[in-house]
Amino acid sequence: TTPLMQVSGLGMTYPARRRGAGIKAVDGLDFEVRAGETLGLVGESGCGKSTTGRMLVRLLDPTAGQVRFEGQDISGLSQRELRPLRAKLQIIFQDPFASLNPRQTVQQIISAPLRAQGVSKAQQAKEVRELIQLVGLAPEHLERYPHQFSGGQAQRIGIARALATRPALVVADEPVSALDVSIQAQIVGLLERLQRELGVAYVFIAHDLAVVKHLSHRVAVMYLGRIVEIGEKDQVYADPAHPYTKALLSAVPLPDPAAERARERIVLLGDPPSPANPPSGCTFHPRCPKAQEICRSEVPLLQLTSGPGERQVACHFPENEDSAAS
Ligand code: SF4
Ligand code: MG
Repeated sequence: TTPLMQVSGLGMTYPARRRGAGIKAVDGLDFEVRAGETLGLVGESGCGKSTTGRMLVRLLDPTAGQVRFEGQDISGLSQRELRPLRAKLQIIFQDPFASLNPRQTVQQIISAPLRAQGVSKAQQAKEVRELIQLVGLAPEHLERYPHQFSGGQAQRIGIARALATRPALVVADEPVSALDVSIQAQIVGLLERLQRELGVAYVFIAHDLAVVKHLSHRVAVMYLGRIVEIGEKDQVYADPAHPYTKALLSAVPLPDPAAERARERIVLLGDPPSPANPPSGCTFHPRCPKAQEICRSEVPLLQLTSGPGERQVACHFPENEDSAAS
């Protein structure tokens, strides 16, 4: 069966400021998103995950590769051709206040995507009343303005807007990173409930593996514009194959205090390198505890591991030694 979204060779190269090759923010991504699932997309800031998310919904035009949505290549469509697809592809942003027009009422904000699809005024009003309650707010909130809400409430408004047209896929770009920790679980819980009720698929972007652990079905880990590991959530968390995934996971707190004290914490040396000047070979090699000579010269390709499931890893020496596909 055709996946909801099929991404192949997706890339974004920003032009160089001076003469030069340009900056590869995203470099040759291949993955799919399945109907109704949550794909967690994780990596440090600057790894290209937000750029990727924006390309998936065509807020940014890729400079390479394809995004097929329900079988159709959307990467070359004009804005006019995209309009009917906007109803099916939506995005939730990190900063809810920055993404809500301060001069519009909540009513106007949530109905905007419906208006763009030519839904009648009466139908808009009906839908918006349903939507505001769906996200845990009340109809009397509809006449207010964004600044009258807390961060968590504002993000609920952003979620209602994203879901107004009943999309098949929503990119959630760090939707809880700007919120108080006490509010984060509520918003994640809301997104999960809405997925169960509406069957929407999420690409949930986060900078650490803790945030996406609970709600993801599959997880993709990005480093410097590439996917270094992707697979079923349980497999990636229980048995990470890429040294970078392993390091990220060692920062996820364990529920059992004894296990938490006993486990080794991997501290990565240095910051992620700049995509303007990527290291040769495996771009993770300057920070990798397992790097060998070959890692400096040969780019490891994303390959299936031989274990159960469909996990893929890009490493010459994956953690679970005997799992490298031949
Ligand atoms: Fe580390 Fe080499 Fe694997 Fe890269 S290819 S992650 S440097 S072991
Ligand atoms: Mg970002």
